[in-house]
Amino acid sequence: MAVDAHTVSEFPGTGAASDLMPSRTDDTEAFYSALDNDGRLLLQLCRACNRHRTPTVPVCPHCGAREFTWTAAAGTGRLYSWVRYHRPYLSPFASLTPYSVGLVELAEGPRMFGRLVGIPSPVIGMRVRTVLERWSDGVVVPAFGAAEEGE
Ligand SMILES: [Zn+2]
Repeated sequence: MAVDAHTVSEFPGTGAASDLMPSRTDDTEAFYSALDNDGRLLLQLCRACNRHRTPTVPVCPHCGAREFTWTAAAGTGRLYSWVRYHRPYLSPFASLTPYSVGLVELAEGPRMFGRLVGIPSPVIGMRVRTVLERWSDGVVVPAFGAAEEGE
């Protein structure tokens, strides 16, 4: 199941994402545009070794090749690790404390960080799915919620 654009929700924190987001470059534009425009989470797939990767980088961290294609992630994965912040690490998250951030191993293999949404008691290994949050300045970022039965 691809990430569904209908899962986009307003970020409940305060402030803009522009202070937090990496700048959009030729390397990252496709990734952020897919999130912004139709709620798709894209991963780079190396044409040489056929492995997915994230975050977006110009060179494959596995084999060093530069050629890749964009593929839509299934949006599901397992919680690999997590941490709960009782003090905000970043100011837009201040109103959300305590909040949790997870390291998720996506179904395609690479691991991605994201805020854990609606998971009061995270458990290592639990199944999660991507949810998308729209920040006040319109930037869409991936986060993770508990997977539903069968995901
Ligand atoms: Zn490679």
